[in-house]
Amino acid sequence: MKEASADEILKSHGLRKTLGRLKVLEFFSSQQKAISHSELSKHFEGQLDRSSLFRTLQDFESHGLVHKVPDDVVSTKFALCSGPCDEGAHYDSHLHFKCSDCQETYCLDGAQLPKLSIPSGFKPERAEVLVHGICRACA
Ligand SMILES: [Zn+2]
Ligand SMILES: [Zn+2]
Ligand SMILES: [Zn+2]
Repeated sequence: MKEASADEILKSHGLRKTLGRLKVLEFFSSQQKAISHSELSKHFEGQLDRSSLFRTLQDFESHGLVHKVPDDVVSTKFALCSGPCDEGAHYDSHLHFKCSDCQETYCLDGAQLPKLSIPSGFKPERAEVLVHGICRACA
């Protein structure tokens, strides 16, 4: 992720600056892993209520700031986008890695999706790959 301030990132994605958005964006930038809505709620307890957090995540996702990360947990996880994502379009095509020890999920920015051969007649729109294993911190 390039070094731009949270201010600039919001602006370049067409989002008005609010304190809540700044805080959430800074929190995402400080994490190497995907964050679930419930983890966010816990982190911002007493500062931002659940519904405004939820709205912030939706805004971030629809404006190409964060993407949903495939996972097998109930609470959806999100992570900062690494691709040239924009309003209404995501281009993140990296693999995701789920650690079976610490249960964290990471974006593997350097690992692109393998070329898939899709049978004719099917029109792929996006693909998600979740690799399971032991992460660097737990190995
Ligand atoms: Zn994206
Ligand atoms: Zn781990
Ligand atoms: Zn990702």
